[in-house]
Amino acid sequence: MRHLLQTGSAIRRVWEQGLQLKALHGAEAVADMTLGNPAAPPPAALVEALGQIVAESPADLHLYTPNAGHPEVREQLAAHLHERGLLPGARREHVVMTCGASAAINIALRSVLEPGDEVLILAPHFPDYPAHVLNHAGKPVIVPVGEDFLPDLGMIEAALGERTRVLIVNHPNNPSGRQYPPSLIEELATLLRGASQRARRPIYLLSDEPYRELRFIREPFVSPARLYEYGLMAYSFSKSHSIPGERIGYLAINPGHPEAKELVRALSLANRILGFTNAPSLWQRVIARCLDAVVDLEPLRRHRDRLVTALADKGYDVLAPEGTFYLFPRTPGGDDEAFVQRALDQLLLVVPGGTFGRAGHFRIAFCVDERTAALAAERLPHATVGGRA
Ligand code: PLP
Repeated sequence: MRHLLQTGSAIRRVWEQGLQLKALHGAEAVADMTLGNPAAPPPAALVEALGQIVAESPADLHLYTPNAGHPEVREQLAAHLHERGLLPGARREHVVMTCGASAAINIALRSVLEPGDEVLILAPHFPDYPAHVLNHAGKPVIVPVGEDFLPDLGMIEAALGERTRVLIVNHPNNPSGRQYPPSLIEELATLLRGASQRARRPIYLLSDEPYRELRFIREPFVSPARLYEYGLMAYSFSKSHSIPGERIGYLAINPGHPEAKELVRALSLANRILGFTNAPSLWQRVIARCLDAVVDLEPLRRHRDRLVTALADKGYDVLAPEGTFYLFPRTPGGDDEAFVQRALDQLLLVVPGGTFGRAGHFRIAFCVDERTAALAAERLPHATVGGRA
């Protein structure tokens, strides 16, 4: 833990520096773009469902649920995954309710890793993945994606070894905002299928997809978990329903898994013994009534467009995100830590790319209100000092 404390996330560090700046200059003066903590209110359907359920107050509302979740909620979720084509053939017994995506990832790793097994993580990546792997005596192996932020199959193939047990993928990606094309996912599944056969044990594809409803492009989203019999889907309602503090999500497995029953038993047991016990009972019921609801994407689209324009005008090299609420421009001059300090001087809080395993970039979280988005666009320093990125 001392090691993790020392190498810990820069997101919190910058956010805490920001608290000092806010105390000094007033919160209104600071454009805080650090956390993926959405400012948008939850969808109206969710607020309504919450009111209804509290009013109905079924007798078991506040009790323990089965470790895998309320059976009828799992049933509804499986039907939703099947009908939307996200996981065709999904049934209740393929879904385990969890305390968000973080718990889904942890129960998955707990269930499939043996000590010393390697987990490939595509960088840039959500900063907590390596720690999640270490929680279960696994070994994180970082594999960079290409310059275009798409997975490089050659690099993945080169990183596969005898101990590889899992590949974690996350699209639309935090922090790059990239959505992966279906053909690339097909190729990835083919690669893992071949490698599993050669290794004579399955290599899992853990697809972490909390941003799949937050997309700005027409191309359909395809879950990597759908195309591969050893695919696992980690989902969270934190972002699509703007309720990160309520801790609700799920882990679903590909229905073609040859030992589906045993795996789901393991996942349910992991839920209990890792101390999650079960996903919050009240929120399981709420979410089951508003599965198709999603936060209003229009404000996010406006912030994205405004910031992409401001970045381009000021000389930054940036890809317009296809999904998520993050931007990941190149850092002018290349030194992300120095740039983040320079931005702090302008009362703009952003996060260095190094914390996501890709130095030379910085992350802007634009899940903020209108005023803060406008302030951030204004505060961005010109990318001229140190040359164009
Ligand atoms: N995975 C990714 C890619 C994330 O960005 C986040 C949160 O920001 C999580 C997982 C954790 O989500 P949850 O709140 O559901 O634990």
